[in-house]
Amino acid sequence: MLTETPPSLTAPHASGPLIGSGARTLLLNASMEPLCIVSLRRAVSLVMTEKATVLETDGRVLHSEHMSVPLPVVLCLTRYVHVPVRHPVPPTRRTVLQRDSHRCAYCGGGADTVDHVHPRSRGGRHEWGNVVAACVRCNHRKADRLLHEIGWSLSFTPRAPRWSVTFAAGGARSEPLWSAYVPA
Ligand SMILES: [Zn+2]
Repeated sequence: MLTETPPSLTAPHASGPLIGSGARTLLLNASMEPLCIVSLRRAVSLVMTEKATVLETDGRVLHSEHMSVPLPVVLCLTRYVHVPVRHPVPPTRRTVLQRDSHRCAYCGGGADTVDHVHPRSRGGRHEWGNVVAACVRCNHRKADRLLHEIGWSLSFTPRAPRWSVTFAAGGARSEPLWSAYVPA
């Protein structure tokens, strides 16, 4: 993800190449529940103000005039933040493909379309429980038929992604060090 070498590391207050490189940090609530993904700048700010502690680092250290901060990959808030409403992410082509890991629900091949399991033309709703990732071929073959009509079945029950905020920000698979903290 980061391509800068240690000599390019910059102080947290500077807008050097590392800070601006799009690095992201997974932020956990004090309960260890994934909350959201924050920019590296925000992550460093949370650590420096002692609002969060570093759980995982990629081994590098950010140096400023007065302190050193391990480059945070996973952070945990020091105080629990109550999250009253978790806004669900709507099922879109992007979010459905993310949820299903770009795998076709019918043949397991690479998918880049979304299929309504119960076809919309036959009253199926556009909701998480009725959409799956599908390859173009399967989507075309299935057309507006129901699964039992063509002898197909699903190997899983489609449902809304559990960590909607994390999914919305690009998925946990982009950073291996996040995997222990985010359910697949
Ligand atoms: Zn397929």
